[in-house]
Amino acid sequence: MTAPLSPTVGNPWLCHTVRIAAITPEISGVATYDFEFTDPDAANRYQFRPGQFNMLYLPGVGEAAISLSAHPAARRRWSHTIRVAGNVTQALAQLGTGGVLGLRGPFGSSWPIDDCRGRDVILVAGGIGLAPLRPVVYRLLAERSHFGQLTLLHGARSPGGLLYTREHATWNAGGVAVQTTVDRTAADWNGNVGTAVVLLDRLPLPRPENTVLLTCGPDVMMHFTARAALQRGLPASQLWISAERNMQCAVGLCGHCQLGPEFVCQDGPVFRYDRIAPFFRVEGL
Ligand SMILES: Cc1cc2nc3c(=O)[nH]c(=O)nc-3n(C[C@H](O)[C@H](O)[C@H](O)COP(=O)(O)OP(=O)(O)OC[C@H]3O[C@@H](n4cnc5c(N)ncnc54)[C@H](O)[C@@H]3O)c2cc1C
Repeated sequence: MTAPLSPTVGNPWLCHTVRIAAITPEISGVATYDFEFTDPDAANRYQFRPGQFNMLYLPGVGEAAISLSAHPAARRRWSHTIRVAGNVTQALAQLGTGGVLGLRGPFGSSWPIDDCRGRDVILVAGGIGLAPLRPVVYRLLAERSHFGQLTLLHGARSPGGLLYTREHATWNAGGVAVQTTVDRTAADWNGNVGTAVVLLDRLPLPRPENTVLLTCGPDVMMHFTARAALQRGLPASQLWISAERNMQCAVGLCGHCQLGPEFVCQDGPVFRYDRIAPFFRVEGL
């Protein structure tokens, strides 16, 4: 398990002010926000690992956990891809470029990219679950020669739900083979129909014992992805998921995000599957 990092900008309770430097509309109800710290010292110290998240604070509204979807080597602007869900994300969507908000973080564990060296890597992303995997794609591309076969399987409910499609050609050209699929087809869709698990079932796996799979998406998708991977011969110790649970303090105190014996905010959100599997599909956890 990759060790959780302490926030790189000091006190985990201290909210740093960030400004919205750019907004990129993605899919319906989802946009990528690039944040810049107003304090140059905080900006200089801020670093994150792929898979980690920040707590975004809208004064008078509340806080929400949001993953970094940025390039891991980002130094000035940090991207977050956000779906409008409730109070905080709605208030954020009202702010335009130049709007300010608070940020605590980064928090949580990270994807085990160093353990992927020399191995084949499969990323399985459902819908906006691709957001916390985008920094992994950037790392794999930046260090392409250190990895074996690289595949991204990305599923969405409909073609309009596929994320970052403008980047897929670059990712393919760089050596990450992108396959997309949708649950429901559309008139202009000539691609795959079915879940990402179907793509995984069809994917040639020349050396499952030397393959790592990282997945993020709805719980049910990650459950069936893990089951399919195990059936194809991947060891449980080489499957990693990113769990999403209702989160409040982000520092392991409030207990809102507890999953069995784990706190998603501190022990996760990235877990080795065999560590979390017994609790993952228990109703109410
Ligand atoms: C580690 C982590 C990373 C995340 N990364 C992202 C991200 O990159 N982009 C993104 O758009 N969202 C992400 N989320 C989800 C986001 O934190 C929630 O959608 C958050 O509730 C939005 O706040 P809100 O005030 O707008 O909505 P709220 O008013 O809090 O809630 C809206 C609705 O969603 C329900 N809800 C709240 N939290 C969750 C949850 N975790 N799972 C299921 N239902 C929930 C509420 O009960 C309510 O019905 C992440 C969550 C976690 C825990």
